[in-house]
Amino acid sequence: MTSRSLFIFACAAAACAGAGAAYIAQQRDGYRDTPILPGQKWHVHDPDRPYPHEVTPGATLGAATSDAIVLFDGSDLSHWEQRHGDKPVAPKWKLIDGCLQVAPGTGDLYTKEKFGDCQLHIEWQEDPHVTGSSQGRGNSGVFLMSRFEIQVLDSYHSATYADGQAGAIYGQWPPLVNPIRKPGEWQTYDIVFKAPRFDGNKLLEPAYVTVFFNGVLAHDHQKLNGPTGHRVIPPYEPHPAEDSLSLQDHGPAQPLRFRNIWIRRLADYDQPEK
Ligand code: MG
Repeated sequence: MTSRSLFIFACAAAACAGAGAAYIAQQRDGYRDTPILPGQKWHVHDPDRPYPHEVTPGATLGAATSDAIVLFDGSDLSHWEQRHGDKPVAPKWKLIDGCLQVAPGTGDLYTKEKFGDCQLHIEWQEDPHVTGSSQGRGNSGVFLMSRFEIQVLDSYHSATYADGQAGAIYGQWPPLVNPIRKPGEWQTYDIVFKAPRFDGNKLLEPAYVTVFFNGVLAHDHQKLNGPTGHRVIPPYEPHPAEDSLSLQDHGPAQPLRFRNIWIRRLADYDQPEK
């Protein structure tokens, strides 16, 4: 490590210690006589390159970050709605023991706020006495943009078609592995979603999704064929850049619960400094 890089490292360490953003303006360092990075507009070690925003991670693994929108923290359903046709109505899903429980037969649950590219954390739990088989065993789902389902199901020693088991991109890709826990235990999804891009009616970029299922990689920047569906391959159809996150009411016979749901909007590299 050179003395210069040591200096930069010391500055970064000071920031980590809570020195705040002021250090960035005071200690900015770098080079303008270095090569331009391929495909970028920046020199190697460019001093003019924007500094990423500081974000405080959750105190424990899975806890919401300082820049997250907390969609459900166990206290209320204020971020959610259900729908009768296009009309939003108050949710009938239940708040029980700090958890969000599916109310079978009432329909899916939607966020009031809409999202495109995002990082999502969500936890779910099957009833310890879940019954049924295959797709009838504790079925729900996490629908990104209300179109792209990451399956929720009891797949612990319970078989169904591979692209319909828990963690699957429903009807398209099984999870790389099945790291599910027993029914009654909490499961986690950490999802990174890149929304599709359209130019008018033309698809410019498909959607991509990365999923960690109980901390295990289940999908690695996997391309989606289009919206997910049952026995069909629906094509992409143009839609707005952001839409509601939704949770599926598949009429589970036993209580199916969610908790600790938070989301971060994602932006590209080199955002303007705050
Ligand atoms: Mg489902």
